[in-house]
Amino acid sequence: TLVVPDNPTIPFIEGDGIGADIWENSRAVFDAAVSYTYGSTRHVEWKQVLAGKKAHAQCGTSLPSETIEEIRRSLIAIKGPLETPVGEGIRSLNVALRQELDLYACVRPVRYFAGIESPLKHPENTDITIFRENTEDIYAGIEWNAGTSEVRKVIDFLQHNMNVTKIRFPQTSSIGIKPISREGSERLIRSAIEYALAHKLRHVTLVHKGNIQKFTEGGFRRWGYELAQREYANEIADGRLEINDIIADNFLQQILLNPQRFDVVALTNLNGDYASDALAAQVGGIGISPGANINYASGHAIFEATHGTAPDIAGQNKANPSSLLLSGCMMFEYIGWSKVADVIREALQKTFAAGLFTADLAPSARTALSTSDFAQAVIDQIS
Ligand code: ATP
Ligand code: MG
Repeated sequence: TLVVPDNPTIPFIEGDGIGADIWENSRAVFDAAVSYTYGSTRHVEWKQVLAGKKAHAQCGTSLPSETIEEIRRSLIAIKGPLETPVGEGIRSLNVALRQELDLYACVRPVRYFAGIESPLKHPENTDITIFRENTEDIYAGIEWNAGTSEVRKVIDFLQHNMNVTKIRFPQTSSIGIKPISREGSERLIRSAIEYALAHKLRHVTLVHKGNIQKFTEGGFRRWGYELAQREYANEIADGRLEINDIIADNFLQQILLNPQRFDVVALTNLNGDYASDALAAQVGGIGISPGANINYASGHAIFEATHGTAPDIAGQNKANPSSLLLSGCMMFEYIGWSKVADVIREALQKTFAAGLFTADLAPSARTALSTSDFAQAVIDQIS
């Protein structure tokens, strides 16, 4: 955990689309929970920093350097969803932010709340924290289009130097590169193990496709086991830690069939992408899935709603603030204010159990609460 003063200043990026709807209401819940827990002895000073559409309108760039500097200084920030404007040469603002601070671990706790509809018969068995590698894999974006001279050279080289004649590899192929490094894998897996130990969770599972991709995905697996043996031999010996691994396709079956088998899972970037959405769906979807992007070495962390800007319902006071609320819980835990996180989670749990939902989770339009009424219901559960 990060040591912060009793009155920390925490930067927030409100975000685009439904960002304004969910931020204002989430902030009210955060303040109520801090005040309930600590009275007047602790207080968060929220400081708006700009990114996305708002930043573009006010500063002419969607990711101003002041925003990055402010977050760099504060170490942490919380953010709503961002729209990446076209024509600034940025593929994704979210990715650009992560790269600036080298936030290598994407952390997604997936936990079921009673009262929420799930496709599973026993959704309550799902309590899994995902550690997805955030900086490597096919997301490096190194690929070449079919027919370019780079591709021709690579294919010629491979056909002359390797035994690729037996597989289909015509000149009409496009090619992508998947870099997976030992350092990249180790820092992610070490974070997953540290998290498991800190939360007294025993199982850390390496999810990979090493049966097919021996060196990249297989490397991730092997480096993970080696790291555990080297740095956590005591914890393994006394039974506090158990490292195992599973092939990614089987993992996607097992989370549906036997989710109780998993505590903390570590995955490469692309597998982590698939698994995050699949797991989110089995506990109620993107409206309630929190996330954080963290560099455990530098301490930098951005806590964020994992859904998009949802332009279809933006500004209508309809959006579900739960994803941002639960991301806030992760943030309070990260700064050592775990009691605040517990208070918010418990209030949210009681709100759902009382049958109170925003439109995305309500059984019918008639029973749906607005964003602000839902947030107020959560606050009512606190006081
Ligand atoms: P973006 O391009 O920013 O990803 P999007 O339209 O893809 O925006 P998503 O956030 O991915 O939006 O949402 C997909 C669907 O889920 C939309 O119909 C949206 O209304 C709904 N949705 C997403 N987040 C929420 C939320 N917090 N509350 C309610 N509905 C949501
Ligand atoms: Mg989207």
